[in-house]
Amino acid sequence: MLKINEIFYSIQGESSYVGIPTVFVRTTGCNLRCTYCDTKYSYFEGNDQTNLEIFSAIAAHKTKYVCLTGGEPLLQKPIFTLMTELCSAGYLVSLETSGSKSIEYVDPRVKVILDVKTPDSGAAGSFLTENLLFAQPSTEFKFVICTENDFDWAEDFCRQHDLFEKFVVLYSPSYGQTTERWLAEKILQQNSSARLQLQLHKYIWSPEKRGV
Ligand code: SF4
Repeated sequence: MLKINEIFYSIQGESSYVGIPTVFVRTTGCNLRCTYCDTKYSYFEGNDQTNLEIFSAIAAHKTKYVCLTGGEPLLQKPIFTLMTELCSAGYLVSLETSGSKSIEYVDPRVKVILDVKTPDSGAAGSFLTENLLFAQPSTEFKFVICTENDFDWAEDFCRQHDLFEKFVVLYSPSYGQTTERWLAEKILQQNSSARLQLQLHKYIWSPEKRGV
């Protein structure tokens, strides 16, 4: 059994899978409290579902892409079996995780989007350094940039651990704290190798982001 907050069909807004119709499985519960969290409703709300029930909800949609997100999916041990079963059934599975829980036993067929929480995220120091050892070539590292200090810190972290050479690195602006334009200019000015990530789903489903 897994405690599930919601299962829904939408457009993937992040990572290399951006733009792809995807079923999202949002688990209940998170061990962190980031200042910019936009899924606080997932901290406690949800109901227990079997893998069969989850599979059935996913199969109602005509896509092979499934994204496990939260909350923090890795807080619940049965998620590991679910990921393996989904991969074996032919789904292209991605996992969005905060970086604070070990990814060692995540099925290697899963694309892991691994957050590294910055100093001004409200969850500084939560990154589990051993996750650097378990990252696969397909792993993508994500940093939500809240301030200039965060940007500099992320650059140092990536260079210190050779992330730019080995992995896709995504920088997202923290909504309301930095802008896409500011972050784009920083990336160019600083000769960063990070990829600017805009949260496409917010542009689609939150018209105020586009000023309409
Ligand atoms: S890790 Fe994600 S779900 Fe948890 S508090 Fe941070 S932004 Fe919210």
